[in-house]
Amino acid sequence: MEIYNPYFWLLFGGFVVFMALRGRRNRKPGPQRSRPSTMRGQLLTTSLAKTTPLVCLLDEGKKYGPFFLEKTPPTLPHCPDCSCHLQDFVSDSQSWFEGKVPQGKRQTDLGDLADGDWRYYKASLILAHPETDPEIRDQFSLLAESGTADEAFKNRAQAHLRG
Ligand SMILES: [Zn+2]
Repeated sequence: MEIYNPYFWLLFGGFVVFMALRGRRNRKPGPQRSRPSTMRGQLLTTSLAKTTPLVCLLDEGKKYGPFFLEKTPPTLPHCPDCSCHLQDFVSDSQSWFEGKVPQGKRQTDLGDLADGDWRYYKASLILAHPETDPEIRDQFSLLAESGTADEAFKNRAQAHLRG
C-alpha cells in the first residue's frame, strides 16, 4: 500500500488512535493493595451462669458500631440481674478476615471454657431458659449440636443445668 493511498492514512490513523487508547488504559492505576481499614466498636460481654437473664445471653458476644449490623448497643443494665459490660475494641479488616475477632472476658459458673465449650454452654443455657421463643430454640439447638464441644463437657454442663 502506497503512502499516498487514503486507505493507508485511514489505517494509520486508526492504529494511532488504538495505541493512544491502549496507552491511556495502561496508565490507569492498577488495583491497589487496599490497606486494612480500622474497625472500632463495642463488644458486649456477660458471664455465663444458670442465673444469667435470657436477654443478656442473647446479646452476649454482639458487636456494635458503624461496621456492624447493630450500630448502637443496648442501654445497660438490661434488667436488674444483668451483669453485662460493653468493652471498646479496635481491630482491622485484615485481622477480622483472618478470624482474629476480639473476645471479651469469659466468666462462667463452670470455670474457664474453651471456645467450643463456651458456645455449647451458652446455647444450652438459652435452650434451658423457660422464656426462650421456639424460633430461637431451633436456632440454638442447631448451634449446640453442630459445635465442637467436648462430649465430657456436654455431660457436665447438662448435669449442672439439671442440678
Ligand atoms: Zn445484660
